[in-house]
Amino acid sequence: MTMTFSADEDFALQLDRDDPLHHLRDKFHLPLGGDGKPVIYFAGNSLGLMPKSARQIVDGELDNWAKLGVDAHHATGTPWYWYHEALREPTARFVGALSLEVICMNSLTVNLHLMMATFYRPTKSRSKVLMEEPAFPSDTYAIKTQLIHHGLDPKDALVLAHPRKGEFTVRTEDILDLIDEHADHLAVMIMGAVNFFTGQLVDIEKITAAAQKHGIVVGFDLAHAAGNVPLSLHEWNVDFAVWCSYKYLNAGPGAVAGAFVHERHATNTKLPRLAGWFGNDPNTRFRLHLEPEFVPVPSADGWQISNPPIFSMAPLRASLSIFHEADGMEPLRAKSVKLTGYLEFLIEQIGSKKFSLITPADPSARGAQLSIQAHEHPTQVHEQLIAAGVKCDFREPNVIRVAPTPLYNTFHEVWRFAQILAQHQ
Ligand SMILES: *Cc1c(COP(=O)(O)O)cnc(C)c1O
Repeated sequence: MTMTFSADEDFALQLDRDDPLHHLRDKFHLPLGGDGKPVIYFAGNSLGLMPKSARQIVDGELDNWAKLGVDAHHATGTPWYWYHEALREPTARFVGALSLEVICMNSLTVNLHLMMATFYRPTKSRSKVLMEEPAFPSDTYAIKTQLIHHGLDPKDALVLAHPRKGEFTVRTEDILDLIDEHADHLAVMIMGAVNFFTGQLVDIEKITAAAQKHGIVVGFDLAHAAGNVPLSLHEWNVDFAVWCSYKYLNAGPGAVAGAFVHERHATNTKLPRLAGWFGNDPNTRFRLHLEPEFVPVPSADGWQISNPPIFSMAPLRASLSIFHEADGMEPLRAKSVKLTGYLEFLIEQIGSKKFSLITPADPSARGAQLSIQAHEHPTQVHEQLIAAGVKCDFREPNVIRVAPTPLYNTFHEVWRFAQILAQHQ
């Protein structure tokens, strides 16, 4: 897809007038700057903005608690006991899964550990784990401690796919070569679908097929992919995936996370797992002390441990209904590709002496985020952006991450951002 952009302000304004999703911005609270005007919020890759409808939905659950006490588990419109059911269908849609393959529970890193407990069963010959570098630290800590938990040394058992010298993103061919090289010794590979630092979107389908050919179990961390790029986990045959819902999914700080377990595993009640009562067959769950044998639900629910955290789930309902109004990921992705492409175009206009991008130029190899390398006085650039009312983040030594999100950002904000960036001396 080639798009012709213009650096004229009128052009940006026209793109906003032509944007069929423009009205969705009104559904979010926009943080205000010192001048009382909304900041340019490009930090949706860290914490998505609050849907206005979240307050009402959380208030509703507080009211249910106040009025009904324990009876709210069964008595309300969305009974607490079954609350995760209200999230199931919309969740399955945005990751491209069957409804029995997804469950909203816990937080991301916890879910990663739970999935590893099932899928990482090292043997003498197959004990290695492949992951990317740099990975988000929590994933690195989780995987390293998984290895140590099994009595292995990460120095021997961890295989890292990293960018070549002088490059920033990992080449697919290098990942495939590593898989081939360690084919007989790899038990699991786990990779960020969209890298938190570079914004690179990897070829999930290709990598999954290549690893599975050798009997390697394949998991993806979708923290930066969920709600950002279209996914087809079931069709791509991914074994498992985990994600959080406070980034592009706008469900609020520490909101309930999600997990995907492919149908062929989800229905296998023989798989070992770390269990709790909510993974048990609901028909016998409440027999409590009478049921010492764990009988897993034959779906992703079989990995659920505790009763659903209502107050960290309620805002996700608000957000998912906005995704529904947007008509799902396809229209959002179409706008996102344009929004990010426009930002790229405007940054390139400023010139590569000052700024260059470490995010892939190919729209199919990235999501909303661009990671900008600032070549001159990077910390000052970031400070100037903040002072001018831009919310974005800075990663040492010189990378500014910006994520214009199609649900609430505008083309004119992208244009204004580029103006501010261009003013930097
Ligand atoms: C945001 C993020 C996390 C955060 O983990 P939590 O368990 O939700 O605190 C972990 N991994 C990746 C790749 C992330 O982007």
